[in-house]
Amino acid sequence: MHPIIQKAFDPERYRREGHELVDMIADYLQDVVNAEQWPALSWRPPEQGFEYLNGMWRQNDGDLQRLFRETLSRSIHLHHPRYMGHQINPTAPASFLAGMLTDALNNGMGVYEMGMAGTAMERVIIKTTAQAMGLSDYADGFLTSGGTLANLTALLAARSAKAPEAVWEEGAGSRLALLVSEESHYCIDRAARIMGWGDAGVVKVPVDDQYAMRTDLLDDYYRQAREAGLTVIAVVGSACATSTGSFDNLTAIGDFCRRHDLWFHVDAAHGGALAYSGKYGHLLRGIAGADSVVMDFHKMLLAPAIATALIFGDGRRGFHTFHQRAQYLWADAEQQEWHNLAKRTFECTKQMMSLKIFAIMYAHGLELWDAYVTQMCDLGKTMAELIEQRPDFELAVAPQCNIVCFRYVPAGVEPESLNALNQTIRQQIIEKGDFYIVQTLLRGKAYLRVTLVNPFTSDRDLAALLDEVENLGMNLLKEY
Ligand SMILES: *Cc1c(COP(=O)(O)O)cnc(C)c1O
Repeated sequence: MHPIIQKAFDPERYRREGHELVDMIADYLQDVVNAEQWPALSWRPPEQGFEYLNGMWRQNDGDLQRLFRETLSRSIHLHHPRYMGHQINPTAPASFLAGMLTDALNNGMGVYEMGMAGTAMERVIIKTTAQAMGLSDYADGFLTSGGTLANLTALLAARSAKAPEAVWEEGAGSRLALLVSEESHYCIDRAARIMGWGDAGVVKVPVDDQYAMRTDLLDDYYRQAREAGLTVIAVVGSACATSTGSFDNLTAIGDFCRRHDLWFHVDAAHGGALAYSGKYGHLLRGIAGADSVVMDFHKMLLAPAIATALIFGDGRRGFHTFHQRAQYLWADAEQQEWHNLAKRTFECTKQMMSLKIFAIMYAHGLELWDAYVTQMCDLGKTMAELIEQRPDFELAVAPQCNIVCFRYVPAGVEPESLNALNQTIRQQIIEKGDFYIVQTLLRGKAYLRVTLVNPFTSDRDLAALLDEVENLGMNLLKEY
């Protein structure tokens, strides 16, 4: 064997470097919760980051610890209490320890023997989650690579079940379409276009003043779509809408779907986690009637990205996604093997994501998810109260979960200037790096947006953010 290969696989080197890395991460976890000591991110322009790492590569000294330290300091810190940006959670140590083992094992998961333990755990996770959502014992599904891919997979299953022709074999005949709220995640629109449905294939139902789907308009929009020659096969409920965290009325959507024999899909990529919260689970009322549900474990259940469940109300339907109609008729129990995952997943080789989730459940029980999800949604309410106490701020909508949209609206500023003002404040916040927040546009108005995902975020951090927004805003107004 070439000595370089021997060196690459040296167990003693791994042991030494592994211990050093574990120590480095433990120190990091201890320090990063001190908001004043660490920035949430050290913003650098893209070119500068590239130059630096390219330079490091060129003067490569092979020192892994240096590489890891540089990576740490040049990354955004999700474990930082003032990280309040995109919808992705800080990871629980049990899950990233599990990640070290899954990466070492590298089980490919597509067929049973390529991931025996992982496949079994996956089923436990799916069954446990289905039960938490109130789905029946027939519910089943699998883990897949992200909410985006899971939604596409669910809609392919919907097409297989509800399209008038066998699209898988013969291609599309009818002009297919789905109904979804105008506030849905962009990946639903993208999925429909990937399936060749075009502009007309995504019928956007308006939202109410809480940014939830106007289910009272479903009949109208359905009728109009049919009159325009479309074959509507599904309605997608958002639980919740990405921008505002608003939950659609899933009971009303489910009833509508049953009346018209449509597939009822719930995009619960973010909010599905609330099924594990005793206090907030009621926001998912009606999800038990879904034909398919998508839920991320990396947004509010403390797992590393990406790890997403796709659950079918009737588990057998997951086997029809990538199959032609005729096969469905011949299908018997023998062919619908739950343990050969690639029959149902987009992926061939798939990450062994299950251990990272299972390790959290196993080490801490479902109580951890209950406590965490509940605390994060409570924090959303606290944030709203703090905003309402300040006359120069306004909420987009009373938050239902851990997503809060607000804007700085000082007296005497022209309404047309408020978008630019809030957008500039947001850019300055990123470049400063004390906080990380994002922005969104609602009905033409720019809002600052936070997703509260860090259990170490305190009321004090929230107040400090509002102070920072106000200070930056006042300075900008002086310059105007
Ligand atoms: C985040 C999100 C998605 C996308 O999921 P990824 O895991 O990021 O691909 C889809 N739908 C909703 C409602 C989301 O919140």
